[in-house]
Amino acid sequence: MNTCKSNIEKGKLAGLSFELGPIRPPSEGGSNSLLIRVTRNCPWNRCTFCFGRAYEHEKFQMRTVDDVKADIDNVALISAEINNLSKEASTSGNIKYLAARTLFNRLPLIDNIHQSYFNVLNWLQSGAKTVFLQDADTPVMPTQQLVEIILYLRNKFPTIERVTSYARAKTIYKKKDDEIADLHNAGLSRLHIGLETGDDDLLKKVQKGVTAEEHIIAGKKIKKAGIQLSEYIMPGLGGKIMSTQHAENTARVLNAIDPDFIRSRPFSPLPGTPMLDDYINNKLEILSSHERLKEIKILISDLNVTSRVCFDHFRNPAYYNANGQVFHLLKQDYDGYKFPDEKETVLALIEKGLNISENQFLQTKDFIHLGII
Ligand code: SF4
Repeated sequence: MNTCKSNIEKGKLAGLSFELGPIRPPSEGGSNSLLIRVTRNCPWNRCTFCFGRAYEHEKFQMRTVDDVKADIDNVALISAEINNLSKEASTSGNIKYLAARTLFNRLPLIDNIHQSYFNVLNWLQSGAKTVFLQDADTPVMPTQQLVEIILYLRNKFPTIERVTSYARAKTIYKKKDDEIADLHNAGLSRLHIGLETGDDDLLKKVQKGVTAEEHIIAGKKIKKAGIQLSEYIMPGLGGKIMSTQHAENTARVLNAIDPDFIRSRPFSPLPGTPMLDDYINNKLEILSSHERLKEIKILISDLNVTSRVCFDHFRNPAYYNANGQVFHLLKQDYDGYKFPDEKETVLALIEKGLNISENQFLQTKDFIHLGII
């Protein structure tokens, strides 16, 4: 242990870092994915419910392939440091990483260095299997550049089983089938796409910059190439007026795509977005808890997919019991419910929710002050 401590004191472990973006899907954090920042921020930044606020509404930037490769090289150096440190600590198995964790807690709290080490440490501890490419729309990068990055990453770390990224549907819509196939062949395993709604009026209203038909074409292209697809939907996005058309058309688009995962991210007006201004100025009537459940019920009833339907976000329906404990109506794990087999289970749970008094539910407005994406 003393030897390890001396490594830290000599600064061997304190100098390396790589660039990290601000967010990744919860399902990637759950598997401790390595985060590799390929682009910075969002190239669109206009959706009125989001406004690129996770990226501080900063201007989009493409990173160079060489810069990203240099970051991957630093990950390799940090991994080697951690493994050497573990050997010096004379421990084995996952326990060895506990020694590293204890020592890293002593690293100077220079944000990026600290976060880089912990990201690699958590990744190694979980088997170094999954990687998430940041930020909001990685495939907007010229395809052959992204292919080069993915190949470099996969060659450097043969333990990697899954490489995923966010993508805008419009970007995929514009790519040729061959380009999507090239990304799959290079080792891109899964794309996370914000569908939000399949209703054209609502897509236009929230300035998503893509039509329902373009969403369908993009989703089908991804599946045809053999890349897994997660589609994110936003119950409540249309407020009271557009609730039914939002639910029906979202189900229609999802049925046409039949993605691998459908992930529910209920709407809440967030600080720094135009939709919070609309809410404050009484231009948007948000749904009550039962109204939102009824909207989800329409969507689920209309779904004819083989997807896994997931409610893996804290804003999904939750209620207080008599002892003040909070319960989520629908399970929150990353694999959710397998459709069509578990469709009736989900509908029965929604019915259960509709029989629980509305004032026992966490309300949409309760989430506003949290300001979390
Ligand atoms: S929802 Fe996605 S595309 Fe729209 S502004 Fe936010 S990050 Fe950009």
